Amino acid sequence: MHETTHEHPADAQIDPVCGMTVNPADRPDLQLEHEGRTYWFCGKGCLLEFRDAPGTYTAPGYQPQGM
Ligand SMILES: [Zn+2]
Repeated sequence: MHETTHEHPADAQIDPVCGMTVNPADRPDLQLEHEGRTYWFCGKGCLLEFRDAPGTYTAPGYQPQGM
């Protein structure tokens, strides 16, 4: 029993790029850790966009656009 998750992986997460609700249990591969927080994404596209420019999506004023 060795858990390394920071948050409840069973809880729904919000994709920070597009604002979609993501179920981490469904997409265990679509996560990325950034500055000590784990983010989940609806798809590879959002994950790659976040990875390219995480500051854009973690900025306080950022509003998810929807896709
Ligand atoms: Zn997305």
